[in-house]
Amino acid sequence: MPRAQRKRKMSGETDSSPKTKAEKKPIKRQRKRNISDSDEDEEKQPDDSRSPVKYENSDVENETKKKPKPKTQRKKKTKEALTDDSNPPKKTKSRGSKKKSVEETIEANEQLLEMAKENEKEPPGEKYIGGHNSINGGLYKAALESASIKGRAFGLFLKSNRQWAAKALSDDDVDNFQRACKKLNYSLDKILPHGTYLMNCASTDSEQLKKSRDCMLEEVKRCQRLGIKLYNFHPGSTCGKGKVEEGLQTIADSINMVLKETKDVIILLENMSCQGNTIGGKFSELSSIIDKVDDKSRIGVCLDTCHAFAAGFDIRTEESYEAMMSEFDETIGLKYLKAIHLNDSKGKLGCHADRHENIGKGEIGLDGFKLVMNDSRLNNMPMILETPFIENVSNYEEEIETLYGLVK
Ligand SMILES: [Zn+2]
Ligand SMILES: [Zn+2]
Repeated sequence: MPRAQRKRKMSGETDSSPKTKAEKKPIKRQRKRNISDSDEDEEKQPDDSRSPVKYENSDVENETKKKPKPKTQRKKKTKEALTDDSNPPKKTKSRGSKKKSVEETIEANEQLLEMAKENEKEPPGEKYIGGHNSINGGLYKAALESASIKGRAFGLFLKSNRQWAAKALSDDDVDNFQRACKKLNYSLDKILPHGTYLMNCASTDSEQLKKSRDCMLEEVKRCQRLGIKLYNFHPGSTCGKGKVEEGLQTIADSINMVLKETKDVIILLENMSCQGNTIGGKFSELSSIIDKVDDKSRIGVCLDTCHAFAAGFDIRTEESYEAMMSEFDETIGLKYLKAIHLNDSKGKLGCHADRHENIGKGEIGLDGFKLVMNDSRLNNMPMILETPFIENVSNYEEEIETLYGLVK
């Protein structure tokens, strides 16, 4: 299908072409904003409502949905429904249509089944590439979206990344997620959740710090319950109010508190771009945090290529790429490298600006990613794209194909 046509179909516009087979139905993926690790962007951006992937008639049965809503809420809904044509009352839905299980949803979609088979094999170059996928409609939807874009790994948020509070995970949420991963053959160690952007585990404000620590604890507990092995977060920022050395200690203390109350999950520090007062742009800062963490078996690093480049690591030539990897090894230790974020950079080398670009379209370019894709030290770990969407549509599928095409 031509790109333009496919894009139109995926973005959900009306398509009157006849569909004879269920598997030909387009899988829509949209999101309202691009993932960006930028502090600046965070404030401007609305609540995250990433790319709902719509599998027609595929809402998985969820016990929690059946619970009656509180009376006041129910009344309001009915009123809205009566006065708003765009929001028809729920009872117009056919009552006979039984909701499908996760397995049935996957089995009804040839594309997903194909990917489930692919996931049984070792990927090219032993590189597990995927996208940061949406949890709109349930955590398990991230697994379905991953398969639909041919991801061999995936990233996700564990709850809305713009709110502190979150609805408790139900047993069904956990069950559906694990069943989707099992059916699609995603190993739980190739899944990389991203911590809420609101957190600042280096904060000098006691209230902010407590909120951040509670949030991280909740999220790591979620990983533990889901069976996910890794959890990535941004170390934090001094916000110009404290010394970096104090910030490093506060971050390490936060991690130690969370590790004490959880088990199994490895917490990853993401390298940052040296933007503003953020901590973690320098490898020495990541190393200093790791030094202060009690349980070294449960701490690691996720290396973001855009952040590294913006922080001044030139990964475009073999020599300079090797220099970065050597510095990583000498300063932090390669054994701590557990995951990669694959992003090109809109900003120039050493610009300190955290602005992601699509693979090959930015300042890093394909030469840099060729080095990444052929580095055996990066085998068998999740490599997650967080690149901008084009006209509200993820470009992940093409980028994954491009990246695998670089494997020699
Ligand atoms: Zn990040
Ligand atoms: Zn990142």
